[in-house]
Amino acid sequence: MRHLHSALTRLTFALAAVLPVTTAGLSALALPAMAAAPQQKVQAPGWYRFMVGSVEVTALSDGTVDLPVDKLLHAPKGVVAADLKKHHLAAPLETSVNGFLINTGNRLILVDAGAGSLFGPTLGKLVTSVRAAGYQPEQVDDIVITHMHPDHVGGLAAEGRAVFTNATVHADKADADFWLSQATLDAAPAERKHAIQGAMVSLKPYADAGKLHTFTQDGDVVPGLHAMTAHGHTPGHAVYVIESDGQRLVLIGDLIHVASVQLESPEVTIGFDSDEKQARAQRLKLFKQLAQDGSLVGAAHLPFPAVGRLRAVGKGFAWDPLNYSSQLK
Ligand SMILES: [Zn+2]
Repeated sequence: MRHLHSALTRLTFALAAVLPVTTAGLSALALPAMAAAPQQKVQAPGWYRFMVGSVEVTALSDGTVDLPVDKLLHAPKGVVAADLKKHHLAAPLETSVNGFLINTGNRLILVDAGAGSLFGPTLGKLVTSVRAAGYQPEQVDDIVITHMHPDHVGGLAAEGRAVFTNATVHADKADADFWLSQATLDAAPAERKHAIQGAMVSLKPYADAGKLHTFTQDGDVVPGLHAMTAHGHTPGHAVYVIESDGQRLVLIGDLIHVASVQLESPEVTIGFDSDEKQARAQRLKLFKQLAQDGSLVGAAHLPFPAVGRLRAVGKGFAWDPLNYSSQLK
């Protein structure tokens, strides 16, 4: 260290000898103070692509929203706070809202449409994500809806007009019957009316054009995409399955909202559930199946891109995110 210091001192004197400058001259020669590059404060484009056999799937982000999960989740006292803390999280919890775009080679199918303008300014980015991912909204042939909550249908329409101008919307009839009914709206408490009106406004342009199709049982909704009813979160909540070349993806919609709590304790329900008991039973049943068969799973509210696999651990589950890939084979 001392050697280095004396070497530097010698260098300084040597430079002073060959550069006849005053102290004032030195500061004039110095570079102006460099400002740090401004922080960008924007996130990467909200899409992530993967293959399911020969089918191309793109997870789409609609954005994130801060949810007071400590108040929304119904768990024994202290469980939610402890689970969040264990995972280095806290309430309100920044929660992803995700959709999925499926290109079968013959059809372009969107699963859920994001919140549009119905759920605050941090959501409503799904169309931006569609474009960033290389597609245009008018290219979408079909839209399948897991359920008609505002964060899943709000993006269907903007200012009363269809956003996906060439698409037919498909949903479980039980959800359409509930959410699009004037009787439901009239009977709903004031704080629920907004969500029902949101569903009505979002679906109307498609219904008016004869492009709202409903189904009543499990089956192929469009070629290459199979619906399975999973009622409970809403009266007509459905999940969707794609199978290709021996691979299987199950898009589970709102069977789970908070990974850090409901994986370990899948019996914990959320205040958004229409029928909490039924929603819990659906989660337990399907999670068990998915952990057993190793299907790929895509979820509406797990952290983006929310694609991975469930694994049984004790009385609950663990989540193995899909391994990142930059190679689409
Ligand atoms: Zn949702």
